[in-house]
Formats: sequence, structure tokens, C-alpha cells
Amino acid sequence: MTRTPSNPSQQAISPKPYKLVALPSQPPNRQRPAGQERFRQDRLSGKISLRLTVQTNTVVASGAIALGIDILGLNKNSPDLIKTAVRRDRRLIIPGSSFKGVVRSAYEAITQSCLCKVTPETKRQNWVPDKYQECQINQAKNRIEICPACQVFGAMNWQGLIRFTDAICETTKFRVKFIPSLYQPQPEPYNKITKQKHLNSEYFGNHGKVRGRKFYYHALQAIEGGNRGIETQQAGNQYTFTTDLYFMNLSAAELGTLLIVLGQDTPKHPIALKVGSGKPIGMGTMTVDVTAIEQPTNMCDRYLSFQPETNQLTGEKLENFKRNAIKKAHETKLVQPEQLQQLTEILKYPTNRQAPEGMY
Ligand SMILES: [Zn+2]
Repeated sequence: MTRTPSNPSQQAISPKPYKLVALPSQPPNRQRPAGQERFRQDRLSGKISLRLTVQTNTVVASGAIALGIDILGLNKNSPDLIKTAVRRDRRLIIPGSSFKGVVRSAYEAITQSCLCKVTPETKRQNWVPDKYQECQINQAKNRIEICPACQVFGAMNWQGLIRFTDAICETTKFRVKFIPSLYQPQPEPYNKITKQKHLNSEYFGNHGKVRGRKFYYHALQAIEGGNRGIETQQAGNQYTFTTDLYFMNLSAAELGTLLIVLGQDTPKHPIALKVGSGKPIGMGTMTVDVTAIEQPTNMCDRYLSFQPETNQLTGEKLENFKRNAIKKAHETKLVQPEQLQQLTEILKYPTNRQAPEGMY
């Protein structure tokens, strides 16, 4: 995914396709999580059915490169090589773990959560502000106090309260498109004048600590072409994927925060998510619809009967349920208003933004 720019000095600098959401002024609010040893009556368990709609070409790369003829058959237009997407039974998929990661980073950004999933270099250089370090669990001392995101999504040695199934494309179709090569972010770019590496002030504050969490803007459409890159198997515009989110022992506020991140708090917070590769060049925009929420009416029935009665919410009932949970998320202050505002500003969709063509 990296390359040396052909001649960066001759290229115009485009506006940056990303922005940081500042860390909340209060450090992570660590508490004991709800636990999974039993279903709690005072909390919510069940399943959310989701439909994801591709708004700009999306690819979750499999890491494998295949011969063009193996993917497209014998065709005079087949490129020699194609970078393949993750597939199962001829359908494109978004692995549950990938989608969970995307939802998690947005959830972290709008709650008082730790900075986890940082690069090894960030750890080594001690760039994470004090108190924002990844939550640690000390099972031996039975001291389990973790931040809001770790409580829901899990931490090392702590299984979270939600799980995503793999999102499966509703069609067996796919597209093969060219993706220009991308640069890696440079936390310490080389300064030609001082002949030294300096911390990038976009990312770091006065004390050399990370300022916030980085998110890419959505764009009208993804950039295609360019002089270097590779043909890639992609999900095209308006393809849809379906997936289920299983949740256990969530508070209404936690569920509401999840729904906000999934773009359900409209019209005030019209958030769409960015999934897979090519985020800087406008790829990977997906909008989310919640098609149903299911809650078991009686937890015992779930195990004693082959067809347990479920309480499936759709239509007006679903809308009311979502609205109530979202209200709780705002009321209990689990959601940080300032951070939510910043995240919405970046992830709002639709957009009129153009992805940068060249250097940024
Ligand atoms: Zn944490």
C-alpha cells in the first residue's frame, strides 16, 4: 500500500481528507462491566438486524492476489492480477471482526474511553496521554474496571457484550476497479529545513501526546485511476450487505450509543461509516439501516423450545424503541456531546466533498 511519490514537489497539495476528534477533557471513565455469566433482567439482550448499503466502492481485501483470468474468466480485458476481496460462497463479505472494529472506533470517540488499538510505535514512543492507556484487567485481584468502549466491545481478557456476524453481500456480483496506491500516515515526517524528524502537529499536542482520534471524511465518490496501483475486487455502489449484531446485558444507554454510531440518531447526527481500504480516496462509505430488533420474551424459552417466542420489533415499534434508547444515551451522558458533534461533522452523509486527487 505504500509507494514513493513520483514527484511530490510538483503536485498540488489537496485539503486533508481527515480530521481528528479531540479526546474528551475527562479521562476514561472506568467501571466494572455488566458481565456475561447470566442474562440480567435489568438489562437488554437480543439481536439487531442490519442492512449496510455501499455508497462509495468498498473493499475488504483478503490479502490474496489472484490471476485476472481466475476471477473474470478468459476475457481480453482481464487484467493480469487482481487483489481479491474477502469472499464466501462466491459472495463478498465483510468479516464481523472488521465491521466491529469500525463501529468500535466511532463508539470510543464519542464516549470517555481509552485509546486502544494503537500502533506499536505509538506505545513505544509513549504518545498516548496519561490515563488514556489501554484498559488493563487484573483477573487475579478481581479488579475489573474498564472504559465504556471496552465494557461493550471487549478488552484483553474480557469478552465484550456484543458480537457481529459476517456481513454478506446480497448479490454474487462484484466489480473490478483500479485503486491508486496510498501512502502511510507519517507521525514524524522529515523536515528538509531542520534536517530532523518532528512530530506532526496535526496529530500531536504541545506535550507530544496524541490529540485525538483520526477519521476520514466521506466523499461524493471514490477516486479511480492514477498512474500506480492495482486492480481490486470491490463492492459497487448500492450493493447491500446484511449482518446481525447480537447483544447481551447492555444498558439502554449503551444500546442507544451503538444506534447513534450506526447513524440512527437522525436528523441531528446523520452518521455513515467507513469500511475497508481506500478511506483517504473516498472509498468505503456505507450507510446502515436497522431492519429489526429482536428481544427474547422469556430467556428460558430460548433454550427449552425449538421455536422460542420472540419479540420482534419492526416499523413504528422499532422506531420508538430506537428513539428511547438514543434518548437514554444522551440523558445519562454516556455520549459526550462535544465529541459527538465533532464526529458527526466528519462522518455526516450525504456530503458534497470531493476526495483529494493527489497529495494531501
Ligand atoms: Zn478501555
